[in-house]
Amino acid sequence: MTTHSLSPDILSALEGAVGRNGLTADTAGMAKYLGDWAGDYRGGALAVLRPGSVADVQALMRLCCELGLGVIPQGGNTGLVSGAIDTNDASLVVVSLERLNTIRRIDPDNFTLEADAGCVLQTIKDASEAEDCLFPLALGAQGSCQIGGNAATNAGGVNVLRYGMARDLILGLEVVLADGELWNGFSGLRKNNSGYDLKQLFIGSEGTLGIITGVEVKLFPKPARVETAYLGLASFEAAVALFNRARRACSDLISAFEIIGSECIELARLIEPGMTAPVAASVQVLIELSSGPNIDLNGLLAGFLTDAMEDGLVIDAVLAASGAQARAFWSIREGLVEGQAKRGYHVRTDLSVRISDIPSLVERARRFVALEHPGWIALAYGHAGDGNIHFNVLPPLDHPEAEARARGAEVTAGLYDIAVSLGGSISAEHGIGRSRRREFWDGLSPAHRRMVAALKTALDPKGLMNPGCLLPSMETLP
Ligand SMILES: Cc1cc2nc3c(=O)[nH]c(=O)nc-3n(C[C@H](O)[C@H](O)[C@H](O)COP(=O)(O)OP(=O)(O)OC[C@H]3O[C@@H](n4cnc5c(N)ncnc54)[C@H](O)[C@@H]3O)c2cc1C
Repeated sequence: MTTHSLSPDILSALEGAVGRNGLTADTAGMAKYLGDWAGDYRGGALAVLRPGSVADVQALMRLCCELGLGVIPQGGNTGLVSGAIDTNDASLVVVSLERLNTIRRIDPDNFTLEADAGCVLQTIKDASEAEDCLFPLALGAQGSCQIGGNAATNAGGVNVLRYGMARDLILGLEVVLADGELWNGFSGLRKNNSGYDLKQLFIGSEGTLGIITGVEVKLFPKPARVETAYLGLASFEAAVALFNRARRACSDLISAFEIIGSECIELARLIEPGMTAPVAASVQVLIELSSGPNIDLNGLLAGFLTDAMEDGLVIDAVLAASGAQARAFWSIREGLVEGQAKRGYHVRTDLSVRISDIPSLVERARRFVALEHPGWIALAYGHAGDGNIHFNVLPPLDHPEAEARARGAEVTAGLYDIAVSLGGSISAEHGIGRSRRREFWDGLSPAHRRMVAALKTALDPKGLMNPGCLLPSMETLP
């Protein structure tokens, strides 16, 4: 890769690839592409390019390859790990997929949908629903994140328990490779057992192997019945025991099982003042079941909860009596995430451990914060049915931000150590980006590093694709 500045020659060559409307190089115009949702990262770039067609993306990549110009693919810019923003290197170009935003085809008989990578996730969900289908990927950022970004980060969310992560929901990808060549991996086939499954290389690759320009996803029948309950429990141990029991008793019809430490409720109140949680217990669980029309889902959930209360596993329970009440339950879960952002800088993790290790993770992480960082406030919540806990830590309100950020790095390192010591992962779903690159790379075995390096050098020999993200520099790869 060559270090560039924006000379008139480069500017006009870039303009030639994407057209005048597709290029922004002034500070004000680039601002929204260079700052993240949470306000944690602000980067730089030579220019922001917005190709209007797959052919434009190819022309752009051919040019970047010729010039040795590094590229950061960007979707909805809702990522939380500095994958689409480079805070250290302003000599790259950001390629935003936002103009590639057409749903290409829905095939309700095949239960598939094909879309441009820049389609916003919510648009895909709405289009599926219009065909009485469900695209089950669901996350707080679904109104802004793009399906290409979801593929590139292997996004998770609240329905992973039932439907899997993006990796499980994608049937095919269309990708522009680092040299501009187009690979079309759409097939519409659920079974295609012929050699390497190349799409899986690009899913979760965070823009380091190519630019995803199209995504083909699996659809599901839209559930006719959905039942939601908000529960109070005494401990994280009880929540894990309840989850195990629910999976067996509810015939695997659970579509979400979210755990919320009661300390998080204050944060949700920052978004909805006056809100009271439906139960007062120290550990709260939001459980959702969904099914087709011929199952007495309400009876199933009510019976399960009655048994769990009689056995003392559940202290208190409210079964939503209407769709509006169910949405109110979900707004607590969504509000607590927004509330953290509103409060300001905080340590944000997405750890995963075996489901059975969730109580140890929370107990050890809380003890670590209380002993090593007194005054900081620990929050534990997450997609417990997937073993995924967001253990976040808020600095005291009177802490100057610069001081809090410096200390926050120590808090994060301590939490990563706890997850790793339990055999867990430092990234359940948000990815590695730039902010976790060192910890990720340090944690790999030599054989794992060699395989990753071989893939990177085979697909992107000049190291142009999202340099600095996920991997160390090309020169230092084994
Ligand atoms: C409020 C909120 C809630 C969230 N909840 C969840 C959650 O529950 N689960 C979860 O997994 N994540 C969650 N996230 C994180 C984020 O929304 C996901 O990672 C999402 O998939 C990112 O999509 P995006 O289009 O915004 O990608 P971006 O942020 O633009 O990019 C993310 C990465 O993907 C690469 N990339 C983007 N588009 C392409 C492309 N077309 N081709 C190649 N590479 C590309 C970028 O280079 C970057 O490395 C949340 C974020 C917010 C703000």
